[in-house]
Amino acid sequence: MADLNAEPRMLIDGKLTDASSGKTFENINPATEEVIGEVADGTVEDMDRAIASARQAFDETDWSTNRDLRKKTVQQLKDALDKRREELRPQIVAEVGSPIGLTYAVQMDTCIDDFQYEIDLIDSYEWETDLPVHEFMGMRSARRVLREPVGVVGAITPWNFPFMLNLSKLGPALAAGNTVVLKPAPDTPWSATYIGRVIAEETDIPPGVVNIVTSGDKAAVGEALTGDPRVDMISFTGSTGVGRRIMARGADTLKKVFLELGGKSANIILDDADFASSVGMGSMTCVHAGQGCAITTRMLLPESRYDEGVEMLKASFESFPYGDPTDPGNVMGPLINASQRERVLGYIEKGSAEGAKLLVGGKRPEHLPKGYFVEPTLFVDVDQDATIAQEEIFGPVLAVLKYTDDDDAVRIANNSKYGLSGSVASASLDRAIGIARRIRTGTVSVNGGGWFGPDSPFGGYKDSGIGREHGIAGFEEYLETKTLGLPDPA
Ligand code: NAD
Repeated sequence: MADLNAEPRMLIDGKLTDASSGKTFENINPATEEVIGEVADGTVEDMDRAIASARQAFDETDWSTNRDLRKKTVQQLKDALDKRREELRPQIVAEVGSPIGLTYAVQMDTCIDDFQYEIDLIDSYEWETDLPVHEFMGMRSARRVLREPVGVVGAITPWNFPFMLNLSKLGPALAAGNTVVLKPAPDTPWSATYIGRVIAEETDIPPGVVNIVTSGDKAAVGEALTGDPRVDMISFTGSTGVGRRIMARGADTLKKVFLELGGKSANIILDDADFASSVGMGSMTCVHAGQGCAITTRMLLPESRYDEGVEMLKASFESFPYGDPTDPGNVMGPLINASQRERVLGYIEKGSAEGAKLLVGGKRPEHLPKGYFVEPTLFVDVDQDATIAQEEIFGPVLAVLKYTDDDDAVRIANNSKYGLSGSVASASLDRAIGIARRIRTGTVSVNGGGWFGPDSPFGGYKDSGIGREHGIAGFEEYLETKTLGLPDPA
């Protein structure tokens, strides 16, 4: 195995550091099941030190108010990451099992490019706004509205797009003037520790502004962060269950919470749609083995063209390229670990048991005995209330549902506890936009249009979360608002 030059240490108080216990945990390549390295197994005491350092950096340095310092040093981070893409790329592929092609897009390159958007906001954002004189109880006053950082941000991220999500939190949090304690997922620690090394060795970001605490334990060290009164805000991406738990824990210390959670998005194909470009893309549900929260995992086909659509899907699922993620021809690699694979296989079993028809896939691929692979899987004739139509599987599984007319399609799409994303296809753009307006989700792709961008807000309705990442709305999640009352200048 090539030396990936990954970083095994955490970043606490400006120093790259081993765990206080001296212990490490294994980083495993999900495509090969090989141990690819060891990482500091941080403890609750390490988290305590990290929070103390972030608190001190926020309260006792000028980080929160010195925009020139932030601009200079956060730019240093972006520029250093820019130069290190080819060192990072194999690390991400190895620990995430992500198809390498995705690292040229959203898994890595796109998010390094997009980081510039937040850095530029340090200059362009309207930090102060003057309001006109207003009369209140016989007194005339001017007002000035100030936007200020929230304080210490605890950032908790999952394993599916770890580097991208770490940067999606660090970027706006730092640009806005907060200090951060980042706790990455145990399956993908390098996507965070590498950033820590770059910060420590290649930037003048002051000690304590960014702390990174890794842990092999999924919850304990994260709970030390979410329950700590010195932390002002938790920015979390992950499952809805953990999101709920974080919100409940935040109640005691009244933390601001920002939650990007799960999804079960619908892809509505209207009866006049071009099936080749819409239904034909249905197997893209399997990109990155379906481990994307905004992937459309339910396809809604019109009764009038149902059989035609199913036929096309079958062909595209049967030829979907998957396997070794380092092979650029594959757009699907393994699931992240054995327990996720068993969870996905459990859902597939339940799908059949509840009466859906399994048309393609459904098991571990025989030709890939190593690695946590599951075959691209297509279920048709799925009842809208079936478990596989309701719950987030987070695997390469598409559920196909039949609808009668546009109203029925909207009803079925909205019959979900989630509200993250979706998509609509029609020969008429107006008809498709009309349907998109009726879908209760945070993003909708219309006739193949992409909603993703550094300036487009992303997030969920209902159980898919609270708040938005990216765009001005995403930046403002990391800000407080202060209003000054001033004497009437007249
Ligand atoms: P998860 O919720 O189990 O874990 C996410 C992170 O939370 C990890 O770092 C984990 O260690 C930590 N964590 C777990 N329990 C915790 C606790 N009690 N207190 C504090 N931290 C805790 O999710 P996962 O299995 O790692 O990721 C898959 C889920 O993430 C899917 O449901 C997916 O939809 C969701 N996701 C959502 C988005 C989005 O933007 N909406 C993006 C990616 C993933």
